[in-house]
Parts: sequence; structure tokens; C-alpha cells
Amino acid sequence: MARAVRGLSARLREVSGLLAGRFGRPDLCAHETDPVRNLVLTILSQNTTDANRDRAYDRLEERFPSLPALAAARPSELEEAIRVGGLARAKAKAILGALARIREERGGYSLDFLRGMPLPEARAYLTSFPGVGVKTANILLLFSFGMSAFPVDTHILRVTKRLGLVPTTSDLAKAALSLEPHVGAGDHGALHLNLIRLGREVCRPRAPLCAECPLLSVCPEGKRNTKGKGRPTPGLNTLPGVPPPQEERGAQPKGKGFIA
Ligand code: SF4
Repeated sequence: MARAVRGLSARLREVSGLLAGRFGRPDLCAHETDPVRNLVLTILSQNTTDANRDRAYDRLEERFPSLPALAAARPSELEEAIRVGGLARAKAKAILGALARIREERGGYSLDFLRGMPLPEARAYLTSFPGVGVKTANILLLFSFGMSAFPVDTHILRVTKRLGLVPTTSDLAKAALSLEPHVGAGDHGALHLNLIRLGREVCRPRAPLCAECPLLSVCPEGKRNTKGKGRPTPGLNTLPGVPPPQEERGAQPKGKGFIA
């Protein structure tokens, strides 16, 4: 067990170094960091592209410029404002429910009390909100509180499965919780952002560009995929008749791009 643990830590360190060599160290300060606004943003990010999430967030901010104004919104008003992001009814309910509970429990719209909490406790608190899962909680804890949380999105899950860092049966939450303790101190944000970038630009759902990948030397799937070919195999992991995933159908968004 101890050997496996050391192995995973070492492999993550190697992966992170290779990614930083290709992409550099991303700037974590460019992202929305106010915890409550970040919570709203991450709820809006669910099951949509970053571009539509950003459009929904911009309309929400325009229509409800303060958190008290947002909390006082009628559900139908909020749904209308965020419709472009999809699942408007569920997201409006989750946002209004979270704001009402924070106000009731804390006497205002602040999550600053989480700052001094141990990571597992802070995560348990956040995931007790309806509509808030481990990924959303980890994004808040990492980007708003600087904790050593490791959010795993669909890109990171796909890449880490191909690298053999998590079992192929892992889901987002299991992968996040198994990888998190083995990411190097202070490296959670950079590794998170660089793995997402790799997943979007190189290790795509279909036709990953293994021959151009900075991780080829440490990736079992990439080695299998390029063996004797000299170039990647198109259509990897694609089932006949299954349409391409959403991120391949449209242009990749920019903006507040730390959530997939
Ligand atoms: Fe993905 Fe290929 Fe890179 Fe492995 S070598 S991480 S499968 S693109």
C-alpha cells in the first residue's frame, strides 16, 4: 500500500512537471474568488459549456447586481436570467436555496467561516447543499480558500484514466478524493488547470493527439495507441453511433475557464 501511495505521488509529480514544461504554470488569480459568488458560478457551470455559463453569469449579475438582490429574486426571474446556461429551473432552485440557507445560518452572505476549517469538514459542509457535489465544492475550496482540494472534471477524469492514475470505473468524486492527497503541496491549482488544458487541446475524447502529447512517455494508453504507427489512432474510445461529446461539437470557451 505504502509503495502504491509513493508511486502515485511520484507519477503525479512527473505528470505535473511535464505539463508545466509544455503549458507553463497557469495564473490562478484570474478566477472569481469570492466564495459565495464562486458557489453561484459553479452551480451555473453544471452541464453546460464555459461560454454559456459565463453568459448566464453575466446576465445574472446584470439583473441582480448584489447578493441580497439575487437572494430576493423570484425563481421565475432568476430562471429567465440564466436560461442560456440550461437546466435553469434546477439551477435557480439550487442558487436560491443555497443563499437562503447561508443567510439563515450565518446572518449574511458569507462563507468565510470555512477558511479555518479542515478540508474534509469544509467539503462536507458544501456538499450538504442540494446541487453541490464534490467537484463544485473542491473548486470553491481551491480557488476561493486556497485549500489543497483537487477538482476533477470530465477532462481530468478522461486523462487520468488513460494515464492509469485512477481506475477506469472511477467517477468524478472518487477520482478527486483518490488523487487529492497525492498531488504535490501547492500544485493542486496548476495541475488541475493544466490537465484540463491537455484534455481540451491534446487528449481529446476522440482522436487524442498522442504523438504530440507531452505525457506520451508516461502514458500506457498513449504508448499502445502510437505503437508502430507514428501517429495517433482516430476514433479512440468512440462507440459507433454515439455523437461526439459536447466539447467537440462547439468552439472551446474562454472566460472563467477553470470549470469544465
Ligand atoms: Fe492522452 Fe495520448 Fe497524452 Fe495519453 S499520450 S494523455 S492518451 S493524448
